Amino acid sequence: MTMPQPQEEVLRVFLTDRDVPCPVCRYNLRGLGSTTCPECGVRLDLRVGSIDLKLGPWLL
Ligand SMILES: [Zn+2]
Repeated sequence: MTMPQPQEEVLRVFLTDRDVPCPVCRYNLRGLGSTTCPECGVRLDLRVGSIDLKLGPWLL
């Protein structure tokens, strides 16, 4: 069992109970277990520290 990257863990937790659309294809990323959109394959980076700011945590 490997330790997940802190950022990936934050992203996973963030998406667990939120309906967040992919910034590219609008796919609903709720419950996503990875940092890549399964629909369009874009890499998702959650900017730690901006979670409390509205819904613009994505850095492409
Ligand atoms: Zn997407």
